[in-house]
Amino acid sequence: MDLSYGGEFEAFRGEVEAFLSANWPPSGDAAQGSREEQANRFRQKATDAGYLNRNIPRQYGGSEQPVDPLKAAVISEEFTRARAPMEPRGIGTMMLVPTLLDRGEEWQKEKFVRATILGELTWCQGYSEPGSGSDLASLKTKGELVGDEWVINGQKIWTSSAMEADYMFCLVRTEPDAKKHAGISYLLIDMKAPGIDVRPLRMMTGSSEFNEVFFNDVKTPKDWIVGKRGEGWLVSRTTLKHERSSIGAASQTVGLLNGLVELARERKIDGRPAIEDTSIRRGLAELEGYVRAHLYSGYFQMTKGLKGENPGVIQMMTKLNSTNMGHMVSKLAMEILGDDGLVAPGPYGLGMGGNAAEHWVAQYMSSVGVAIAGGTANVQRNVIAERGFGLPRDSAANRSK
Ligand SMILES: Cc1cc2nc3c(=O)[nH]c(=O)nc-3n(C[C@H](O)[C@H](O)[C@H](O)COP(=O)(O)OP(=O)(O)OC[C@H]3O[C@@H](n4cnc5c(N)ncnc54)[C@H](O)[C@@H]3O)c2cc1C
Repeated sequence: MDLSYGGEFEAFRGEVEAFLSANWPPSGDAAQGSREEQANRFRQKATDAGYLNRNIPRQYGGSEQPVDPLKAAVISEEFTRARAPMEPRGIGTMMLVPTLLDRGEEWQKEKFVRATILGELTWCQGYSEPGSGSDLASLKTKGELVGDEWVINGQKIWTSSAMEADYMFCLVRTEPDAKKHAGISYLLIDMKAPGIDVRPLRMMTGSSEFNEVFFNDVKTPKDWIVGKRGEGWLVSRTTLKHERSSIGAASQTVGLLNGLVELARERKIDGRPAIEDTSIRRGLAELEGYVRAHLYSGYFQMTKGLKGENPGVIQMMTKLNSTNMGHMVSKLAMEILGDDGLVAPGPYGLGMGGNAAEHWVAQYMSSVGVAIAGGTANVQRNVIAERGFGLPRDSAANRSK
């Protein structure tokens, strides 16, 4: 088995490495300003060089590169290795932008895409409602067309970042007489519109990233709809596809494991580096096995894709495997930290500040959440079993309506 990418792509890897060593971490003028400003300047440079925002046309601020999964994989690997910022991991860039590019009207792309990838506009995702999470198509928030405006009434829940977001992409029931899935439309809503009430929910990390959002006669223009009336379910599938594949990227899991190995080298157990402890070594070796299998599964899927073949059931497993591994890696980190794992969680994300213990506590707590977000682990297991392996449908799941 040849796991190298071949001469052309290894030469490309050399180019990416050279770009990164010249530009990240920033030095001189590029090191002025806040971390976020430095990261944004770097992102613009990396977009100009063709490394970021590759699938986005230049007219909307992207670098418009030909689709090339191998180059994309090399970039992701090298940026992760250098801990350089990639596209901002906001809901807008990861979910809304690909959806607008696939399904949006021209004016919607022009108005929203560039500003979103530059971080000038931020978004939140209004899908889940009390009682409508896994069974999302049962949602009840109502949209009525009155003159030139949609009038929205109802409630969303678990809406990440709703407090700060400029806009929401939202699923609402606009065709009350149509069947469950056919009655939903995908609307864009200004979060400053009168009648929106955002109430934060406190999480176990201590922060309040989640919110409840109440709509009381909230108005949005008639043409702020993506796809046609009643097509919102199809449009939302585009968004969720992007959400799942972005959650599952193998290089993130590799980066997380590398961080864990660093922690095991730095931290001591009984006066010796944790990496020399038999049980920790066993845990690390086991995780390395899982993470490599995940990485090679990614290569397998990519190779199939390049040949124009369908990777099959294995592609349904990426999110589940990735979130399982994220949880296992952070659980072992907690073991290495011992009593230090009792500290309050710090900023989330390696290299985002805070000390190692605070980072890993935040990572551990968040690993529980990402297994739920974008489709719970159990629902993923059902999808793999039923659609992947053709097993009988889960009789307990209420899908009749
Ligand atoms: C970190 C995070 C961020 C989120 N951000 C957003 C956001 O920005 N916007 C948004 O709209 N939502 C968001 N959510 C909500 C998320 O989409 C829902 O939590 C998720 O879809 C599950 O729905 P639920 O919480 O209602 O749980 P339920 O659907 O009630 O599930 C409860 C339990 O039942 C199981 N279950 C349910 N149905 C089945 C089935 N058919 N087969 C097998 N098991 C089943 C589930 O696996 C789970 O264990 C976020 C959630 C998290 C954790």
